[in-house]
Amino acid sequence: MEPEVQDISHRIIDVNHFVTELIKFSEHKSLATLKFECEHYVGLQSEFTYVCSLCGYKNKIKSSLADVNKAAVAGVMAAGCGQVQLNQFLSEVGLPNMSDFTYNKMHNDICDDWEEAACDEMKKAGDREKKLQ
Ligand SMILES: [Zn+2]
Repeated sequence: MEPEVQDISHRIIDVNHFVTELIKFSEHKSLATLKFECEHYVGLQSEFTYVCSLCGYKNKIKSSLADVNKAAVAGVMAAGCGQVQLNQFLSEVGLPNMSDFTYNKMHNDICDDWEEAACDEMKKAGDREKKLQ
């Protein structure tokens, strides 16, 4: 029996993590009993539910343990672009688009991180200048 694969287009997958989780599932029975049940995703982060077709054992596998949504928004911001350009790119390569809510949350988190880093650097520069006097 072939594992059932639905057309869910492209995803960003942490290959080491995903294969490790598949191997854990294969220790239950075999990959031949693995049946894709559903996917829940937020932006670029997915969670796939697989079920054993023999006993109903379920396993959820995340596409990545890293925060790929934050990384994508940080990358597009560093390139001087925004949500429209990010979603245009994601559409072209067959990845899910990022909702306004997710984009704005990541954008605000990154802005807070950048503000904190800028304040830390200004404080360090002030401390260095104090030592020179
Ligand atoms: Zn089973």
